[in-house]
Amino acid sequence: MVLNSSLARAGWRRARKVLTSRAVTALTVPHGVDRYLGLINPLWSVNEVRAVVTDVAHHTPSTVTLTLRPNGNWRGAQAGQHVRLRVDVDGVLRTRCFSVACSAHRADGLIEITAKVNPAGTVSGHLKRTARPGLVVGLSQAEGNFVLPAAVPEHVLLISGGSGVTPVMSILRTLVDRRHTGRITFLHYTAGPGDVVYRDELAATHPGVTVVYPRQHGRFSREQLLRFVPDYAEALSYCCGPPSLMDAVTSLWRAEGIGDRLRVERFTTQGLVPQAGDAVGEVRFTRSGVSARGDGRTLLDQAEAAGLRPDFGCRMGVCHTCTSVKSSGSVRNVLTGTITAEPGEQIQLCVTAPCGDVELDI
Ligand SMILES: Cc1cc2nc3c(=O)[nH]c(=O)nc-3n(C[C@H](O)[C@H](O)[C@H](O)COP(=O)(O)OP(=O)(O)OC[C@H]3O[C@@H](n4cnc5c(N)ncnc54)[C@H](O)[C@@H]3O)c2cc1C
Repeated sequence: MVLNSSLARAGWRRARKVLTSRAVTALTVPHGVDRYLGLINPLWSVNEVRAVVTDVAHHTPSTVTLTLRPNGNWRGAQAGQHVRLRVDVDGVLRTRCFSVACSAHRADGLIEITAKVNPAGTVSGHLKRTARPGLVVGLSQAEGNFVLPAAVPEHVLLISGGSGVTPVMSILRTLVDRRHTGRITFLHYTAGPGDVVYRDELAATHPGVTVVYPRQHGRFSREQLLRFVPDYAEALSYCCGPPSLMDAVTSLWRAEGIGDRLRVERFTTQGLVPQAGDAVGEVRFTRSGVSARGDGRTLLDQAEAAGLRPDFGCRMGVCHTCTSVKSSGSVRNVLTGTITAEPGEQIQLCVTAPCGDVELDI
């Protein structure tokens, strides 16, 4: 299997050299090579990562797990990283982030993601309802810093809640594949037994791995943690889950001065609160010919309120799907507080608020 995929990769590298040559580029103007390759096989692309769904599993009523075979442009993922997945939803390409849930050492070259359905959302429900083997999706290369260090300490503590299980599962599977000789403690918060995507796999015992479902014993607290993981302060800890769980965990680690031993991955923010002082000026969306009074919210929210539909992915400044050109005016990054006024700069609409008159090229 590994030999096959190495041969395939070598063949792909040779084909890519031809396809990116000046002659082929000139012949395919104005559409570009990818447009023609896609007509022959939707998986083929000179630069883009595309993947075909090879398996679809519905482990719980509110999730869908997809196994994907990426094309030769895929460079692999470290445990805990995510991809931006592009999928056609009713004729519109939508992009959302999904953590790669499989081991970084999976030998067959396939990757796995699990999407939890957001009932008010667009992509997760679409995947649950319609994804079938053969569906082709676009992927980014793997991204993110929620990864293992080069030297993994003896004790790794994993804490997850709900769909936050995915990157943590990847770390667990990777450590098991590496035959990590230390201890791994996995606390998974879930609504109930029927809601655990990887329940059967987690029930299989591996030496050194302890899996606990602490929700039966109430919400996350220091007392609860001391009960299940008395030496948590010495572990390297990873946490991914709903904002309330993550806030409780990060507050505790910070209060105890061990914040540097905690890694976190957020799927969502609690909502970005507008600043009253930013409700000034006018926002002009020049390409659409629409204007609105600045109301202090992010430019993505204001564009949507004005009836525009700019593409977005994470709504929290991670995926860059909503990046657009600001032609003029001052804006504030609501995550960092940084104010910039450079004409023609690229800004992320979902985490940028206008400070006065702003012109956007959308
Ligand atoms: C790094 C990272 C990794 C992730 N990994 C996973 C994973 O492994 N599994 C997983 O299930 N999820 C993961 N997510 C979350 C995932 O990317 C999606 O956010 C989630 O699947 C919901 O997408 P959706 O299209 O169904 O919902 P969306 O359409 O994005 O809607 C999400 C929320 O935004 C609100 N919203 C949508 N449109 C508007 C609008 N126009 N105005 C105001 N509010 C609006 C909706 O009401 C809804 O509550 C991850 C996110 C990040 C950032």
